[in-house]
Amino acid sequence: MDFRVPDELTALRASFAQFLEREVRPVEVRLAQHRRSGGDGDDGLRAAGLAVRRRSCAEGFYAAHLPEDVGGWGLPSLGMTLLVEDAARSGLRLAAWALGPPNPEAPTPLLLELPPHLYDRYLHPLMTGEQTMCFALTEPEAGSDAQAISTRAVRDGDSWVIDGTKHYITNGGRADFAVVFAVTDPAKRARGGITAFVVPRASYRVGRTQHTHADTHPVELVFEGSRIPADHVIGEVGGGFYSAMRFLNAGRAYIGAQCLGMAEWCLDQAVAHTRARTAFGKPLSAFQGVSFPLAESKVEIEAMRWLTYHLAWQVDAGEEAVADSSIVKYFNTDRAYRIADRCLQVFGGQGLLREGPIEAVLRHLRMLRVVEGASEVQKVIIARALGL
Ligand SMILES: Cc1cc2nc3c(=O)[nH]c(=O)nc-3n(C[C@H](O)[C@H](O)[C@H](O)COP(=O)(O)OP(=O)(O)OC[C@H]3O[C@@H](n4cnc5c(N)ncnc54)[C@H](O)[C@@H]3O)c2cc1C
Repeated sequence: MDFRVPDELTALRASFAQFLEREVRPVEVRLAQHRRSGGDGDDGLRAAGLAVRRRSCAEGFYAAHLPEDVGGWGLPSLGMTLLVEDAARSGLRLAAWALGPPNPEAPTPLLLELPPHLYDRYLHPLMTGEQTMCFALTEPEAGSDAQAISTRAVRDGDSWVIDGTKHYITNGGRADFAVVFAVTDPAKRARGGITAFVVPRASYRVGRTQHTHADTHPVELVFEGSRIPADHVIGEVGGGFYSAMRFLNAGRAYIGAQCLGMAEWCLDQAVAHTRARTAFGKPLSAFQGVSFPLAESKVEIEAMRWLTYHLAWQVDAGEEAVADSSIVKYFNTDRAYRIADRCLQVFGGQGLLREGPIEAVLRHLRMLRVVEGASEVQKVIIARALGL
């Protein structure tokens, strides 16, 4: 076993760190000033995020995980994992905009399963940051049990006609197109009866926004006789459920990396704060009631790190790693949330302030314990792998 990060990936991390300092930090500082002077929150953040993304597209980081023959770098999963971790560890809110994964609006290898003549229309504009997409699987009556979806697609001559409602769709209100999962053979469902389609924005209606406690506010999407060309199928007709699971599997590994980086950021902040802040005539760090939870956090971070890197190594070796993805998704979201909570505690009242370093991270991590397969669903998958 060789636990060293390969030299070329260490060099890539250094160049990404420079990019963050050169291109992202100044935009983040300007955004913070704009907000302090009463500027608009969400729209200002998005405009700044898109500016960061354009720079990242120009440098190649944003779509680095896609193969070279479509314009990416063919960066292996371990490389992307390290960049996602580093972006999260930087504590820069805008850093996540510089990378595709684990963002559902970003270019995904799933689109490589489209007919190649559609790459220019759907894949390439995502890779250049000109467009965004959304991933529409969940429905009001089918969340964890995704094979129970009822959105229907019926072939009609040279078209498919789609009817149904999706909800909780991240970026659904802004996306240029949706990747939509619909039942094409009710008798088969998950075993060959669900198909994935690309559906242009003009062919569906955006319903209400679903405001959450985090900074992500998904929407409903309504398909009412939505007609799309017959070639807008991703992969094989009937292969959609497997495509969805591959997408979610890959997403879980990168969510794990994001959790690792966020936990590292929280611990870095907490260590610095407990050294600097005094109470009862001593630095907070002198109290074991403060330092022990941080020591426990360090142990959990190391466990998260090696689970995550090992998963990336498995993916790069061509393994399906279904249960291992679930282990990482469950463990990292759960532990990172606990770590953020402990670290917030050592900041006292300051920890609860909106401008504090951890409050937004904690809310984001709480969300990650539900989205892309809740913790319990990951345990179902892990138990199944145990033969239970
Ligand atoms: C902010 C946000 C963004 C999202 N973005 C997207 C998106 O872009 N695209 C998309 O398609 N979906 C998206 N989702 C949907 C998300 O993936 C689902 O919310 C999630 O899969 C859970 O489904 P549900 O909410 O219907 O909960 P339910 O399936 O109703 O589950 C409720 C609870 O029961 C538990 N449970 C369910 N089955 C079992 C079981 N067998 N054993 C034990 N416990 C079980 C669950 O873990 C959960 O705790 C998003 C959700 C949110 C909140």
